[in-house]
Amino acid sequence: MTYLKNIKNTRLQGIAVSQGIIIGRARLIDRSKQKIVYQYLINGKEINREVERFKEALKLTKEQIIDLKNKMSDKMKEHSFILDSHLMIVDDSMVSDTTIKTIMEEKINAEWALKRSLQKIRQLFEEIDHEYLRDRIHDVESVAERILRNLAGKEQESLSTINERVIIVAHDLSPADTSELNTSMVMGFITDMGGKTSHTAIMAQALKIPAVVGLESVTSLVQDGNLLIVDGYKGEIIIDPDEDTVIAYQEKQIYYDKYILSILRLSHLPAETLDGHKISIEANIEFLEEVAAAKDHGAEGIGLYRTEYLYLLSKEIPTEEELFEDYSQVAKIISPYPVTIRTLDLGGDKFLPAQGSSGEINPALGLRAVRFCLKEPKMFKSQLRAILRASAYGRVQVMFPMISGLQELLDVKDILHEVMNDLEKEHIKYDHNIKVGVMIEVPSAVTVADILAKHVDFFSIGTNDLIQYALAIDRGNEHVSYMYEPYHPAVIRMIIQVVKAAKDSGIEVSLCGEMAGDPFCTALLLGIGIDELSMNAGGIPLLKKLIRSLSREEAMKDLNDILKLTTSKEVKKFIAKKTETLIPEIQKNGFYLNMSQKNI
Ligand code: PEP
Ligand code: MG
Repeated sequence: MTYLKNIKNTRLQGIAVSQGIIIGRARLIDRSKQKIVYQYLINGKEINREVERFKEALKLTKEQIIDLKNKMSDKMKEHSFILDSHLMIVDDSMVSDTTIKTIMEEKINAEWALKRSLQKIRQLFEEIDHEYLRDRIHDVESVAERILRNLAGKEQESLSTINERVIIVAHDLSPADTSELNTSMVMGFITDMGGKTSHTAIMAQALKIPAVVGLESVTSLVQDGNLLIVDGYKGEIIIDPDEDTVIAYQEKQIYYDKYILSILRLSHLPAETLDGHKISIEANIEFLEEVAAAKDHGAEGIGLYRTEYLYLLSKEIPTEEELFEDYSQVAKIISPYPVTIRTLDLGGDKFLPAQGSSGEINPALGLRAVRFCLKEPKMFKSQLRAILRASAYGRVQVMFPMISGLQELLDVKDILHEVMNDLEKEHIKYDHNIKVGVMIEVPSAVTVADILAKHVDFFSIGTNDLIQYALAIDRGNEHVSYMYEPYHPAVIRMIIQVVKAAKDSGIEVSLCGEMAGDPFCTALLLGIGIDELSMNAGGIPLLKKLIRSLSREEAMKDLNDILKLTTSKEVKKFIAKKTETLIPEIQKNGFYLNMSQKNI
């Protein structure tokens, strides 16, 4: 059994997705779709809750069996005694009382206690001579299975109600789970699943809580209450560390805090290369509340406002008024800098609470982003009205995600123009010259970027999805994360193609995927000619510092050499060497927050 394993000082390497070091107690959460019955110890305070959970599962089981009995067809009615016997099994003290006693005495979870009861019942049945009676054990097992299913299917406690300082340990967390974390209590989280650019990872950065994902089997090793060290810089976790290790990490924590403070002090200096080329550095946000922190970190605008989270966090679809209030606030706070509001990118891994998961076999290739919006024109128009109305209060730009070709772009622009006409008729103010852009994140959009460029004011390259779709690597899947390669020659060539198409048409081009904040990619992107980068606010100070130590001319020369390299590994080696010479502390401090840091 897992709890017997000696786990002292066990180190696991995962994927660092949100910076910081934390030392705290584990809180095991089962949020996986296929519920696994974990065996875990509970503490004294949790006994009552666990007993209640078990009693509720028993009650639900009885209700289900009675319901089944009521629904039996006339033909089947003669067999209803089977279900009567099942009801008796639920009430049998060997099942109910014994399990409750075990939970209380041995302080173990309900599933484990029930399995213990079942073992004892099995032993008793084995001793029965009569074959028919002996076989009734199958009825007991079937009832126990139903109880276990109900235990697993029972609504889990909401993560927003966690009221102890803990580190969440979960098989997986959805972006919606993450967004409701109470960050004054939750110190950080670690998961079996996930990749560097999954939306859950991005949320952790937004919430500024350290997180390591892709640990594969951490939930089978860690027990509730275990002491954990989470190193969100290196992507390493240590289970049940000894005292010396804890002290060493406390010192590391102090060192990092000091270092971050030292670069934060310089964050308001412009990101200007040694040869005088100015790069505009903006922030990606998910909530209005992040705008102030973005400014404090030196952001010169909001390059990507992911608007899904307002929808994910509310029980009802937000009204136009609520959206307008939120967007206009962002526009006012970030002013005189611009904010690029991206229209809804629901679907993929983000679903409305009422929607549940879509049930699509391939949600990343399904009804996501503008495809979803075109199917839900009422919701789409309400958001567009709110964005346009907010444009009267600051420098607002509107951007459409997941555009795959011209027809789709023309369709969404038609709706935008319809909404503009409505506002005009209603004499409602909006910026008539509002800039309209698209995210370039689908490979087909790269190929026709020259065509798209004639219909928009700007491009923003979404490398998180572009890499996923171009290399056929699920951005949230830890098993293939080693192949999620921003340095892949195919990715570099695609970015070059998009930048060229934009420049040929005289439109602006920025990059807002996680690559934008990866110090190892900065020189490469400068060499390609990107003039604007939008990233998680926490990454801005270091990026600005790095840009100030680069020469654009040299970056362009390096690009010629990089283009001669044929594998990601060669490109990565070339880039890492250059970057570490410029800012040695990136290497020394373990700032390996680049996407494929597992193999660097
Ligand atoms: C991207 O795909 O690169 C992007 C910035 O958008 P998101 O991460 O929200 O899909
Ligand atoms: Mg995207």
